Amino acid sequence: DVTATKGNDFEDYFLKRELLMGIFEAGFEKPSPIQEESIPIALAGRDILARAKNGTGKTAAFIIPALEKVNLTKSRIQTLILVPTRELALQTSQVCRNLGKHMGVQVMVTTGGTTLKDDILRLGQTVHILVATPGRVLDLAGKGVADLSDCTMLIMDEADKLLSPEFQPIIEQLIAFCKPGRQILLYSATFPMIVKSFKDKYLNKPYEINLMDELTLRGVTQYYAYVEERQKVHCLNTLFSKLQINQSIIFCNSTSRVELLAKKITELGYSCFYIHAKMLQSHRNRVFHDFRNGKTRHLVCSDLLTRGIDIQAVNVVIDFDFPKNAETYLHRIGRSGRFGHLGLAINLITYEDRFNLYRIEQELGTEIAPIPPVIDKSLY
Ligand code: ADP
Ligand code: MG
Repeated sequence: DVTATKGNDFEDYFLKRELLMGIFEAGFEKPSPIQEESIPIALAGRDILARAKNGTGKTAAFIIPALEKVNLTKSRIQTLILVPTRELALQTSQVCRNLGKHMGVQVMVTTGGTTLKDDILRLGQTVHILVATPGRVLDLAGKGVADLSDCTMLIMDEADKLLSPEFQPIIEQLIAFCKPGRQILLYSATFPMIVKSFKDKYLNKPYEINLMDELTLRGVTQYYAYVEERQKVHCLNTLFSKLQINQSIIFCNSTSRVELLAKKITELGYSCFYIHAKMLQSHRNRVFHDFRNGKTRHLVCSDLLTRGIDIQAVNVVIDFDFPKNAETYLHRIGRSGRFGHLGLAINLITYEDRFNLYRIEQELGTEIAPIPPVIDKSLY
């Protein structure tokens, strides 16, 4: 929940008066959760690796500490904010100027596609905070035009993008231009493996913030099987006979498909219940309660059931229909890692689903492997 905060106020951070004025004039009344987590830690000088959903105020979460820490009596670049695109660079610099408008801070934005000559002129004057795309600022630093030797704060927004193979070598060179011991702040909605290796190499005991969800895919082995729509029921039948299912939940993408599939499963000779959004709540509760008590092995349902579900006996989840987005996938497959249960997730993938499969895998930084002929029972 974007609005659920610990009840802190911006006043609690002892920010400069001029900065507070900028914050309030921007219409921010209270810090968002990612801001509550980030601001004090960043002010304390620690490295941060922060993951939060889009639209939750990540920009101000790193710009407020950057503005607070800047020493205006020094006319040198002290903060470098890297972003992957020109549009984002412009937008970020505007947030920076807006929040810092009463401070007299000098913010410069530089991206590819503008003349180097202009940048050289502007860098001849005072710049405290530089917002840039990586290629251009490396160019300027390499030529000795942008002096980063007093840059003590390096911020990367959309960090997973900035650490993709295309950018990573540039980022590493830029770090070498910054002041030794510089603070690094990484913000992103997704953190694939590449970010982890960067973290181990460059971050100093980073404070990790994860405001995505309680759910994780830890302990869940995920597979996909390519099928045609008309083969799905047959495929499910095969899975039922081959897997050692304690209890399973089978997801469909619509109410009508839930009912249809439940009927087919019953026809195949398996006991199954179903739940969907169009059923009466009291009826739903009853079915869910009975399933939880083990009255049937299989439950077919739509996404109404996905949030917060934790039935320990369920060791297999099947996406009969593959979900459209990563969040739904996570809610269907993910379970709270706290209990450390193992589980198996099997996704039936049609030709139309293949891009979604790839996208969701990327977005969640997880691996969904092709289903092997034999699945090791110890995995679930
Ligand atoms: P993210 O980078 O997490 O996707 P942004 O930093 O772009 O999110 O912020 C999303 C929107 O929320 C922006 O319009 C921003 O002005 C607004 N916003 C950020 N922090 C606050 C706050 N504390 N109070 C009110 N609005 C805020
Ligand atoms: Mg953002």
